Amino acid sequence: MKLFWGDIHNHCGITYGFGGLENALNAAKEQLDFCSVTGHAMWPDMPDRNPDTDFIIDFHLKGFSKLEKNWDNIKNKVEEYNKDGEFVTFQSFEVHSCQFGDYHIVSPDSELELNYLESPMEVLKSQKCRAIAIPHHIGYTPGYRGINWDSFDSTISPVVEVFSKHGCAMSEVALYPYYHDMGPRDSRNTVYNGLKRGKKFSFIASTDHHAGYPGSYGDGRLAVLAEEKTRESIWKAVNKGRTYAVTGDKIKCEFTVNGEVFGSTIHTNGNREIGFNVEAAYFIDKIIIFKNLRPFKVICGESLTDANTSGRYKLRIEMGWGNSKSSFIWNCSSSVKDGRFVDVESCFRGRSVLSPTAGIAEDNNINRLTTKITEKTETRVEWVCETFKNQSTLHPQTSAIILEVEGDINTTITFNINGKNVEMTIKKLLENGMSVHMKPYSSEAFNIHTAVPQSKYCVSDSIIDGKAETNSDIYHMEVYQYNNQAAYVSPIFVMSK
Ligand SMILES: [Zn+2]
Repeated sequence: MKLFWGDIHNHCGITYGFGGLENALNAAKEQLDFCSVTGHAMWPDMPDRNPDTDFIIDFHLKGFSKLEKNWDNIKNKVEEYNKDGEFVTFQSFEVHSCQFGDYHIVSPDSELELNYLESPMEVLKSQKCRAIAIPHHIGYTPGYRGINWDSFDSTISPVVEVFSKHGCAMSEVALYPYYHDMGPRDSRNTVYNGLKRGKKFSFIASTDHHAGYPGSYGDGRLAVLAEEKTRESIWKAVNKGRTYAVTGDKIKCEFTVNGEVFGSTIHTNGNREIGFNVEAAYFIDKIIIFKNLRPFKVICGESLTDANTSGRYKLRIEMGWGNSKSSFIWNCSSSVKDGRFVDVESCFRGRSVLSPTAGIAEDNNINRLTTKITEKTETRVEWVCETFKNQSTLHPQTSAIILEVEGDINTTITFNINGKNVEMTIKKLLENGMSVHMKPYSSEAFNIHTAVPQSKYCVSDSIIDGKAETNSDIYHMEVYQYNNQAAYVSPIFVMSK
């Protein structure tokens, strides 16, 4: 089986988000294997109208009716983009609920219907086609659109969205607490708390982007372990919980107990052999294997061995910064001498919008960005990229490319970025990267990060646990990189008789 990457919860102008549907699907194709663009559809227990809620109620109602009017056309367009083997799409819409928490309904079938009922579960159960209900931004306050664990039903919700642009809901101490205007992360409504209550589910992430850029870097993506890149195969994997969440970087994870992959339930009275294999996208900070939500094995980045003098290296070229109101276009290429490029990963971002704000104009082309890998061979990679100034010092808007190079310390890499030329050996790049500015002041810039040697981004091992702690033990894995990107790998449930 192989890993495929997607985003199955994000918004654009088909409801109250921004940007065209086709632009969104085209952007998704650039860096994802599968995606769904979600329409905001209904809110059965919407707050009462008063001068304070007028704006909120109006933009929701307007968005819902826009979706309803165009529902068949939207589904046709989504269906048209599905090409098994190349790019897979799913249908979806979103149900807000104060009482039950927000859910999105996802389906492989175009018969998905907007049935206006009282709860996300009823909406799901009324469908005549295959569909699942995925709870999202679960960490909000119970009753205030966070998850309601009492009503959570894993038979219709095999996966839970644990990270998005709203933040991370894994636990009280997880990176990325909630700071959107919907309020704080409530520690009762975390993933750990759901698992402690005996709920069974796998983890996913999606962006919940509102400016039509599915997969926008840093806002959440999901990995799916499937036989092939087809709609049926990916759908089957999601239903079996063969999924995990990443914040942005495509951290490749294998995680098994007695050979069974994440999302499995196994039965044994004997040893549990826990196997893991991580290929990160940056320096590994920590890998933690949890047993019943307590660390069972911790691997610290500090303990990883010195840089390999030959083999593989990852080079991250990050572009953006500046102080301009408009966007900035990058034209870039890189070539390699005495080595070869074995992989290219994109970390492209769309514009950062999470919900409508009074005064922002509707613009269908807000998500038609000049961002694309245009050439990819073993010796040369070319890309164009459109970036925006950072929203604050804690809210980057940069985009990046990660080149994986095979060679040795004498392998030479050349970068040409908007006419600036840089040539460096891997030996130099392992000591330092470098940043380059385009103008004398408040300038757009690019940063070639220090090279990451394979010895510091690849870890694989196995450990034996000989002891059952309860009759249903939960093993899961979390991977952290030094750039604050993480992977949350779904549990394996081990039952003893
Ligand atoms: Zn949403």
